[in-house]
Amino acid sequence: MVLADPPSGLPAADPSKRADAWSAADGAALYGLDRWGDPYFGVGARGHVMVQPRGDRGGALDLVELVRELQGRDLTLPLLIRFDDILEDRLERLHGAFERAIAQYGYDGRYQGVFPVKCNQQRHVVEQLVESGRRWHFGLEAGSKAELLIALSLLDDPDALLICNGYKDRRYIETAILARRLGRQPVVVIEQPDEVERIIAASSALGGAPFIGIRAKLSARSTGRWGSSVGERAKFGLSIPDVLTTVERLREAGLLDDLRLLHFHIGSQINDIAVLKDALQEAGQIYTELTRLGAPMGFLDVGGGLGIDYDGSRTATAASTNYSLQNYANDVVATIRECCEPHGVRPPTLVSESGRAIASHFSVLVFDVLGAGGHSEAVPPPAEGEALILRNLRDTHGVIAAIAAAGGVEGGVEADDSGERPVVERLQEAWNDALKFKEDALNAFRLGYLSLPERATAERLTWASCLAIARQLEGLPTGTVIPQELQALPAALAGTYYANLSVFRSAPDTWAIDQLFPVLPIHRLDERPTRLGSFADLTCDSDGKIARFIDRGQVKPLLELHGLRPGEPYWIGLFLGGAYQEVMGNLHNLFGSTNAVHIRLAAGGGYRVDHVVRGNTNAEVLEAMEHDPDLLLERLRLASEQAIGRGDLAISDARRLMAHLRASLEQTTYLEA
Ligand SMILES: *Cc1c(COP(=O)(O)O)cnc(C)c1O
Repeated sequence: MVLADPPSGLPAADPSKRADAWSAADGAALYGLDRWGDPYFGVGARGHVMVQPRGDRGGALDLVELVRELQGRDLTLPLLIRFDDILEDRLERLHGAFERAIAQYGYDGRYQGVFPVKCNQQRHVVEQLVESGRRWHFGLEAGSKAELLIALSLLDDPDALLICNGYKDRRYIETAILARRLGRQPVVVIEQPDEVERIIAASSALGGAPFIGIRAKLSARSTGRWGSSVGERAKFGLSIPDVLTTVERLREAGLLDDLRLLHFHIGSQINDIAVLKDALQEAGQIYTELTRLGAPMGFLDVGGGLGIDYDGSRTATAASTNYSLQNYANDVVATIRECCEPHGVRPPTLVSESGRAIASHFSVLVFDVLGAGGHSEAVPPPAEGEALILRNLRDTHGVIAAIAAAGGVEGGVEADDSGERPVVERLQEAWNDALKFKEDALNAFRLGYLSLPERATAERLTWASCLAIARQLEGLPTGTVIPQELQALPAALAGTYYANLSVFRSAPDTWAIDQLFPVLPIHRLDERPTRLGSFADLTCDSDGKIARFIDRGQVKPLLELHGLRPGEPYWIGLFLGGAYQEVMGNLHNLFGSTNAVHIRLAAGGGYRVDHVVRGNTNAEVLEAMEHDPDLLLERLRLASEQAIGRGDLAISDARRLMAHLRASLEQTTYLEA
């Protein structure tokens, strides 16, 4: 029996006794990288996450090396890394899928997409999309007046569509009409019954109309999270009677010739393709009816909703989809063709407003772990004259360690030399003892027989026993039957990993709508994770946590993680968060935006840093709340002077305080490593 060495009190693990070894491929499988990451994210031989920004067309970056080099440029964590090549690759895939579908079904029309600006309004992102999308005349969709301003200023391709959605006042509509005179292609989509009157009034005032679209409220509803916000009770869209009234009003006003587009949107992240098919059939019929009523039409806009397989399970569950991008394009093309052909209607140009599907993959948020709560394996040294309860606990820990030291783990069910019962059974018995003695210790403390330090020793001994058992279980051969109570031990030992980030700022949907994103360490993937844990963020809000993780169509509350090593960083990546997260994030607890960089693969290997976007400083977030940093400094200077005058504060301390305040104002809102 060996207890003294190593100092943890546990016998040294014998690697040859491991039931199975662990490789980088095991790490990739554990975190699902090989499923949701394909083709952009994988794992390298060194156990680092590798990024292939151009998908399978060559070129890879070691994410860990990249973060290190960016840190050398004073870009501290948390850091949002945007891979503009991925954005471009997503656009190519989307267009490629529609081109293949059009060819396969002999569709006598085109596809021409737009990006819904609300998904990510960052200037560099929208600029990049316009630039990369130029060859397909890829356009933009605006859902508000501010987004219209962005779209108008950035979209300079006369053949690209500028879809104008959202609530529209007279100025919004007039701006769109004038944009048509600038040589753009604005389509004002009528989403509310009263908008047609505003369009008619603005058109007659300016002597010219915008292109006009109609958003139909379909009876098909998505099953996902957005299912309740669409369908007949949707906030946007015209009911069929309203569609007819609107067409008649446009005809009377002489604007029917400008009615070119039918639009629908059945909610984001459509999980089940069957729902989309229903919607497409319904919309296809409405489209042909509109042409029969005399509208020239020409465009059918199927909205957003193209989903992302966040957990790689390819199922109709919330974090996944039961279809691929190609399935989606095929269904759109084939269904609309089937609707148009029998009626002799010319197939429309197909438009989609896919936001999530374009923007999710390209940004990776990397944050560091500041520390981990959890339990130590260290066995407290025995005190002189230790209480009986503590000695019992100590002996129990010794028994557990002895089971291992005797080599009893081998085989799991084999009896050891003493011819005793199976190992799991003995571990279970020892654990029951430990629990009983811990209960005794608590009772003794309550009654005043144990001191606070003694109670601490009791708890530490219990956790050390628990950890020792968990270690033993890890080493058992696969297939060993483990009692439920023991199976639950690793979860009971789960630690909280303190993350240098604000969930409310960087991943708000994890909190607001229970969205799942793949989260995993970006290094040490070639090392078996030995802990279970969840993340707590920097905010003082108990909701500021990540405690739901992808699990192949399911959700797990704890993630397999590694023990922290002193002096070594532990970096975590949150993936697939490029859509909505950055823009919906808020200043809860005044944590501001993080540093962000745009990375491009360079021609001869390696990469270039295209843009650096510094995160908010404390001064900036204070100003956002109408505080004046100068006034704040001045108030504290005055308070320091008074304290100096009273003799409570040394002049040197006052200077130090002011220096801290000034430096803090200039820094980002996150913790410095
Ligand atoms: C939000 C929205 C989109 C984008 O939806 P995704 O699911 O992100 O593709 C498209 N069109 C409209 C009208 C929207 O409101």
